[in-house]
Amino acid sequence: MKQFVWLNPVSMAMYGGPQLLEQLIKKGFEPVECQVDHIAAVREKYRQAVRGANGCVADVRCPLAVAYIKERYAPDFLEYPAIEPILLHCARELQREFSGQGTLIITTPCQSLKELGAGLKLPETEFCTFLELAAKAGISLRKKDLEESPIPPGFFQEFGDVIQVLDSRDKIDRYFSGESARGRERLLELLYCAGGCHRGDGVQGAKT
Ligand code: SF4
Repeated sequence: MKQFVWLNPVSMAMYGGPQLLEQLIKKGFEPVECQVDHIAAVREKYRQAVRGANGCVADVRCPLAVAYIKERYAPDFLEYPAIEPILLHCARELQREFSGQGTLIITTPCQSLKELGAGLKLPETEFCTFLELAAKAGISLRKKDLEESPIPPGFFQEFGDVIQVLDSRDKIDRYFSGESARGRERLLELLYCAGGCHRGDGVQGAKT
C-alpha cells in the first residue's frame, strides 16, 4: 500500500530540501504535488464574493482567526463566504488523483487547519501537522527561519484599497475592539499568527 504525502508550501519553505525528501522516501513515503493553481482559484472566489456581498467579507482561509473573531467579538457586519482554505482545495485534488492507490497524508502548518481538514472525512486521507509527521516518521529536521511566509499578508492586494489586513491576533483585537480605525473596507484579510502561517503551531517549535 503506497503512502502519498503532500508537504504544504510553508513547511517546504521552512524545512524542505533534498535531505527531507530523501528521508521521506527512505521511510516509504511518496511526496506528491498539486497540478492546479489553487491560489489563483481561491483568490478569484473571493473576488466574486466581494462583488456579491452587501457588507464586508471575511477572509476565512485561517480557521483559527475566524473562530476567534466569532467567539470573542461576534461582529454583525461580517459575511463569511463558503470558500475553503487553499490547503483543502489541494487536499481534494490529491484525494481524487490518488484515490484507490494508497493512503494520502496532507500536512498542515497548524492544528487548526488539521482539524478543519479532518472534518471533511475524505476517504483514505489523513491530516496532520508537519511536525507531527516528522516526529511520527522519525525525520531529522533542518529549519530555516523565514522572515516572511511563502503566502505573505497582502493576498488580496490586487483588489485595491478596499482591503484591510489584520495579520495577527493583536491586530484583530485592535480592530474589533475599536482601537484602530474602521473604514469602508469590503474585505478583511485575517491571519491569527503574526505575519502568516510560518508562525503556525504545526511548523514552529521543532528541535533541530
Ligand atoms: S498557521 Fe496560523 S495563520 Fe496560518 S491558518 Fe494556521 S492559525 Fe491561521
